[in-house]
Amino acid sequence: MQQLDWKNLPFGYIKTDYNVRCVYKDGKWGNIEVSDSEYISVHMAATGLHYGQEAFEGMKAYRGKDGKIRLFRWDENAKRLIRSAEGVLMAQVPMELFHEAVLKVIKLNEKFVPPFGTGASLYIRPLLFGSGAEVGVRPAKEYTLIIFVTPVGPYFKEGFNPVKIAIIRDSDRAAPLGTGTFKVGGNYAASLRGVMKSHGAGFSSPMYLDTKEKKYIDEIGAANFFAIKGNSYITPKSDSILASITNMSITKLAEDLGMNVERRPVAVDELESFDEAGACGTAAIISPIGEITDLETGKVYRFCKDGKPGPKSTKLYETLVGIQYGEIEDKHNWVTIVE
Ligand SMILES: *Cc1c(COP(=O)(O)O)cnc(C)c1O
Repeated sequence: MQQLDWKNLPFGYIKTDYNVRCVYKDGKWGNIEVSDSEYISVHMAATGLHYGQEAFEGMKAYRGKDGKIRLFRWDENAKRLIRSAEGVLMAQVPMELFHEAVLKVIKLNEKFVPPFGTGASLYIRPLLFGSGAEVGVRPAKEYTLIIFVTPVGPYFKEGFNPVKIAIIRDSDRAAPLGTGTFKVGGNYAASLRGVMKSHGAGFSSPMYLDTKEKKYIDEIGAANFFAIKGNSYITPKSDSILASITNMSITKLAEDLGMNVERRPVAVDELESFDEAGACGTAAIISPIGEITDLETGKVYRFCKDGKPGPKSTKLYETLVGIQYGEIEDKHNWVTIVE
């Protein structure tokens, strides 16, 4: 293996040695197979290619100071993949199979788990899709699970610094009774126009509003939104957002810190009144938000007035990352040591 520059890893794909695969056929899952190929051979009529029968997950493993590899909340990712499979009528991956496959692919690629202190981690990408051939619109009879890993650097090279967000009103990511609550590729395809529009206008991500009234906050790109107001942690409740495991974890940490948690519809107008705002997800953990610009009205909401992330966002970020790297006590049993 060519020596990787751990400190300057991009948040992108780097080839590792192995991936694992498993096929669901004739009503049951087969054995976990190890592959050293980056390619798959798929039937051209596979439903995953035509009709979006596909879902994925994203999680990370971290190397601690003690050299041990820590996997964060894999059980929540396993449960969410089951819900996504239910959402687009795919065969579900049992928790035990998911667990075994994830541990196997990490161990096979152990040397790709970045050293402690580099800010890098091993990103794990499980992928489930309809691999059976159909031409009529119906669920496939065959499904393929693939899990690959890739070492990644921090999502933002600049580190834990405020980002700029654009409110998008001319495209939607997900409909209320659609697939927004599932982690399916189709939602990402639907978000690309908003993502590219925000990038083109010089922002790091789009903020999506509720699709019915365009009055409430849904999500920030592929991350959940949260705000801090006084001693409250506020995060949107909506029928079209994906339940982030990072958000679930930060919510718990906020409670631990004695904060009030409000999970409710959050109106755009309320942005004026928030002390801090942030986006959260596995990739960046927390991205503190410096500014939110409404591209239609030109209105700008400002946070982090001194250019620095707020104290509560910083505390939540440091606590969560500390738990993930094994530096802070894992009171809630979120971490699995990979042995
Ligand atoms: C994956 C994802 C998130 C973040 O979820 P985590 O479990 O925290 O990584 C948020 N929103 C969307 C739309 C997502 O797909």
